[in-house]
Amino acid sequence: MIDSNLLTDLQQIVGPDNVVDDLKKLNDLSRDCYWYSPVLRPELDGMAADCIVSPATLEELCAVIAAAVRTSTPITCRGAGTGNYGQGVPMHGGILLSTVRLDRILSLDADKAHVQAGTRLIEIERRARAIGAEMRFYPSTIITSTAAGFIAGGAGGPGSIMHGTVWDEGNILGATIVTAESTPRIIQATTYAGMRSIIHSCGLTCIIADVTFALTPAVAWQQHILAFEDFDVALTFSAALARDTKVKSRLLSLHEWPIPSYFVQLVKNGAAPDGKHLLLIEAEMSLDEVTRRATSAGATVTWHQPHADYHKTGKLKLSDFSYNHTTLWAMKADENLTYLQDAFDISRLTEQHHARKAIYGDDVLTHIEFLKWGGVMTPAGLSLVRFKSKDQLWKLIADCETLGMWVANPHTHKLDEDVRWNGQPILDGKAMWDPKGLLNPGHMAGL
Ligand SMILES: Cc1cc2nc3c(=O)[nH]c(=O)nc-3n(C[C@H](O)[C@H](O)[C@H](O)COP(=O)(O)OP(=O)(O)OC[C@H]3O[C@@H](n4cnc5c(N)ncnc54)[C@H](O)[C@@H]3O)c2cc1C
Repeated sequence: MIDSNLLTDLQQIVGPDNVVDDLKKLNDLSRDCYWYSPVLRPELDGMAADCIVSPATLEELCAVIAAAVRTSTPITCRGAGTGNYGQGVPMHGGILLSTVRLDRILSLDADKAHVQAGTRLIEIERRARAIGAEMRFYPSTIITSTAAGFIAGGAGGPGSIMHGTVWDEGNILGATIVTAESTPRIIQATTYAGMRSIIHSCGLTCIIADVTFALTPAVAWQQHILAFEDFDVALTFSAALARDTKVKSRLLSLHEWPIPSYFVQLVKNGAAPDGKHLLLIEAEMSLDEVTRRATSAGATVTWHQPHADYHKTGKLKLSDFSYNHTTLWAMKADENLTYLQDAFDISRLTEQHHARKAIYGDDVLTHIEFLKWGGVMTPAGLSLVRFKSKDQLWKLIADCETLGMWVANPHTHKLDEDVRWNGQPILDGKAMWDPKGLLNPGHMAGL
């Protein structure tokens, strides 16, 4: 229950319509996409905030935070709620701070976009494309997810094959943050070192008010789908294409059969033939060139879309079948499927895939997204797993590691149990900016 004086204060700050304590809305919005994980579901189901508050300006944001800190009320930030790790779920009630009204593009030129926290990424991409630029990379949830939600909770996506991830220097140029103190401080982070307490901080260190993304010149992307009879050939072909520095790619997304059978739209379009492994490609490559390369590898081009239709409303987007959208299609087809976030060593890709197959057979299906990880071309995976038990998942993780693979466990909501967390800079940010521990409590094992 929220203190009635605090509720009145919040209504005065943002207006009564922007403070919601309706039980159904509280339950609906106090969730992210943690339900992807059968382990997280029982841990997080039923957790809810006491009210949802939506400030529209930096001044309102600071006043909301000050009121919360004065009354020692927990604050959980929410963008679009598409995060997968449960870190958008309020574990101790309090305020769910929605950025839905902080949605303005403050400035945008060919090199960078400065946007408020709740700006949807698709708006940045559209505005950038209108002036011949584009986002360096974005999550496959580009249509709904927000600027701050992505840098605080996301990693990468289409475009990461060229530009890396949120952790790589030069991609996120800066942010304005607000501290959780009774007189909140507004701090501009403009250096890579300063950003490390903010990137992938999952709402635990500070509240992000705005973000500056680096942009890159737009490319005339074409989309293609290739079907392979043999998965080993598909692995070799896609790894060679990923490493071919003469070809610009935005997406190379490889799916072992039967994953393609889950992509209902592609099946309907005849792009996912029975029994074939699929490589989804967004690249600066003509149909002739793709067909030539495919033919020499014994593969078939099953679908193509020219650049003129790229990201046009009503047209297919291959990114809708990539990254964690793949898992979504799979879970719709078979509710026993879940996923793992793993990565192969590109020089041992086929060997590691086969070694895991030998242990798990089709209980683990290989799904690879090629991306630059710390500057190295990496076949990162969101492998699909036929879920049996938590112990099975933990054993699978251990087995992958024994095989020399890298794994980030998506079945924990504790930030410090994610191997990708920034460690000391996050602990430093927490100590400097959230001295009372009010930001998103319950999502760190070490606190
Ligand atoms: C189908 C599907 C596909 C996905 N594909 C990808 C992908 O390709 N790449 C990828 O990286 N992720 C992916 N994700 C995960 C998720 O969509 C992204 O990380 C997304 O960018 C999160 O944005 P959001 O606005 O929904 O954030 P939310 O889920 O609302 O928030 C994410 C985290 O950020 C915190 N946060 C939000 N706003 C603020 C703020 N203003 N200040 C401080 N903290 C804040 C929240 O508390 C939470 O911990 C996918 C998820 C789904 C369901």
